[in-house]
Amino acid sequence: MPDTIKTPTRIPRPEHSLSRRNISKAALSVLYQLHTAGYQAFLVGGGVRDVLLGRIPKDFDVVTNAQPEQVKRLFRNCRLIGRRFVLAHVRLSKEIVEVATFRAHHDKGGGGVMEQGRIVRDNVYSNSLDDDALRRDFTINALYYDISDFSLLDYGNSLADLDARVIRLMGEPTQRYQEDPVRMLRAIRFSAKLGFTIEPQTAEPIYELSGLLAAIPPARLFEEVLKLFLSGHAVQSYVQLRHYDIFKQLFPYTDMCLDDPHALALIEQVFHNTDKRLADNKPVAPAFLLAALLWPPISRLVPEKPIKGFNQQEVLLEACQHVLGKQQRHVAIPRRISVLMQEIWLLQNRLTRQRKAKKKSLSVLEHPRFRAGYDFLLLRASAGEQEMVSEVEWWTNFLNSDTKGRESLLAGGSPASTQKRRRRKAKTE
Ligand code: ATP
Ligand code: MG
Repeated sequence: MPDTIKTPTRIPRPEHSLSRRNISKAALSVLYQLHTAGYQAFLVGGGVRDVLLGRIPKDFDVVTNAQPEQVKRLFRNCRLIGRRFVLAHVRLSKEIVEVATFRAHHDKGGGGVMEQGRIVRDNVYSNSLDDDALRRDFTINALYYDISDFSLLDYGNSLADLDARVIRLMGEPTQRYQEDPVRMLRAIRFSAKLGFTIEPQTAEPIYELSGLLAAIPPARLFEEVLKLFLSGHAVQSYVQLRHYDIFKQLFPYTDMCLDDPHALALIEQVFHNTDKRLADNKPVAPAFLLAALLWPPISRLVPEKPIKGFNQQEVLLEACQHVLGKQQRHVAIPRRISVLMQEIWLLQNRLTRQRKAKKKSLSVLEHPRFRAGYDFLLLRASAGEQEMVSEVEWWTNFLNSDTKGRESLLAGGSPASTQKRRRRKAKTE
């Protein structure tokens, strides 16, 4: 869409399907309060897009001509957050509604800062919704729902693109990616989440420009990684990241290992399991997923057979810290998560010790991360690591056994007593 198209099409309420019933109470209340106070207020972004697609939005984003300070004065539970992009977070009951002020293009004032074509601060406010629309990322995210008359405003052929199921950048693609390279990841994320196609002019530059992500603060990339992989569409996101050869910008050391079928299988399996758990409404731990993502480069650094004179656990620890340290320069993993990842990795050694050593190390059962460590072993086995299959079997038997069965397993036998007990129990039931 050329930058010059600024006149939106207004679709009156009877001609569109976005009903107030589909908008959360909190978002509606924020919209009404802004409107009553004399400001313009619109719902925009995912909230409009997802409702029109018949999906339940993750959250609702509101945009207004009120400045952040004015928004703050209007609501009791309001916090201003962000520096690169100042936003008001309004909390109503348990919900947080994000309220942004109309933005203009960064060359229109002093609140925008550019670095080599990249917007590092985007706080040039505007009185015009038209300006705001032009700096939205994709046409399907640039639909506005006007609370004053419940109409929809379509700036970028958005409804047609929603119908055609395409992701199209607003404006000139290369420039829009240079301004904010994260838009490449967002294109992939929305395509994976919605099952939409990235239209050719939006897709093509990604192959060439993916390197621009190196300039993005690793903490911001961490947030994007969570959205890519923990929203229920990890497999599709990963397939597309590989397709555009942009996965290596996020996890370069993992990417280097993907010529190994075991590594590839492990990564695919963990994404698959994550999506499955989310689909089943089960919780997922970012630490577990990230531990799996970084396991291939770590295990490459650890010799298969113990080396005389070297403590296996120390060798593993060193490999973990080395890989983690390098990885942090790309995607910054917060310490509270990396600590858990390290525990899962180190448990791998403890869980795969020789049987005699196992006896000594049964304290591993008391380890707060035992379950995650065991699940990780399971993951490795299911990804084709043959030696892990028997380890998993042993632990599974052990966990399912009574005291006698456990003793027998530790002595190198089978958990016979447990199985007998089970059969007997089954008969009496
Ligand atoms: P979801 O919340 O489902 O992930 P969303 O489209 O609401 O999707 P948000 O990250 O909540 O995405 O952003 C809200 C809106 O802000 C977007 O729809 C888009 O219009 C705009 N936006 C967000 N990030 C960018 C960006 N990097 N560049 C341009 N516009 C953006
Ligand atoms: Mg949103």
